[in-house]
Amino acid sequence: ETLDKGLEKTKSSFFSKLGKAVAGKSKVDDDVLDNLEEVLVSSDVGVDTTLKIIKRIEARVSRDKYVGTDELNTILREEIAGLLSETNTTDDIDLQIPKGKKPYVIMVVGVNGVGKTTTIGKLAYRFKNQGLKVVLGAADTFRAAAIDQLQVWADRVDVPIVKQQMGSDPASVAFDTLSSAVKQDADVVIIDTAGRLHNKVNLMNELTKVKRVMQKVVDDTPHEVLLVLDGSTGQNAFEQAKQFTKATEVTALAITKLDGTAKGGVVIGISDQFKIPVKYIGVGEGIEDLQAFNKHEFVDSFFK
Ligand code: GDP
Repeated sequence: ETLDKGLEKTKSSFFSKLGKAVAGKSKVDDDVLDNLEEVLVSSDVGVDTTLKIIKRIEARVSRDKYVGTDELNTILREEIAGLLSETNTTDDIDLQIPKGKKPYVIMVVGVNGVGKTTTIGKLAYRFKNQGLKVVLGAADTFRAAAIDQLQVWADRVDVPIVKQQMGSDPASVAFDTLSSAVKQDADVVIIDTAGRLHNKVNLMNELTKVKRVMQKVVDDTPHEVLLVLDGSTGQNAFEQAKQFTKATEVTALAITKLDGTAKGGVVIGISDQFKIPVKYIGVGEGIEDLQAFNKHEFVDSFFK
């Protein structure tokens, strides 16, 4: 269904390259492994993760003496599932609010254009449909468009939004949002933040300040720091994950725009490299085009 459709481009590109990589070969040998390495790297799995996969397959080949290229699909599927199994998976898009964590506060980070606002809107929609009371906070005060866009989503989903003027202090918006959420007895708060990467120290300081000020209203917040990455940017998404995980403690990932790209392999590499659960994947622009990332479903869909 949506996942299959979302992965369509990645799959067709990957399997066409894989087909070429084994063309005329019946046995997995060094040549095939070299070609496979190229296929994985060019599918944005990332160099480190690719080498891990190749090593595992090499070990199988040397153990089993003969491995037919017709088994390569099954083997890849097993090895990739094995890699992904080291990180958590989310089975359900419904939010289970842990005891004592109401309102549950999600701080969303990521650079502009990756689909941060859209992801917040989609999440608000899901949580609201689940029967939860949601409040949005427009703490990306750097761009007027960011505030306007979040307002558009708040209207569309019909949830309250707390905002101030462009240029105001993000920490102050976050403070107001949490105060308002507590007053309204809200279940979930989703805070948008500005993701300017041009200055890492600034980013770190800003996020730290937002967190500190939020903690004045609700202890131990944010409960979740969700980093949104644009899957269609491939290696850029890796780079951003590196930067953000250095600037703040990221607890979950959302990878967007997997529809429309052949770079979906990035999900495999990012889960492997960062050991942070990929919680959501974006597979379209529509309000329902967000899925809980389930690694079993992902692998099943990929190797179907
Ligand atoms: P922000 O600047 O990070 O807040 O990005 P936006 O949420 O405004 O999204 C930027 C563009 O990406 C918009 O045109 C969105 O419709 C689009 N977008 C976001 N998520 C997805 C997705 O999963 N798939 C596709 N195809 N487009 C997406």
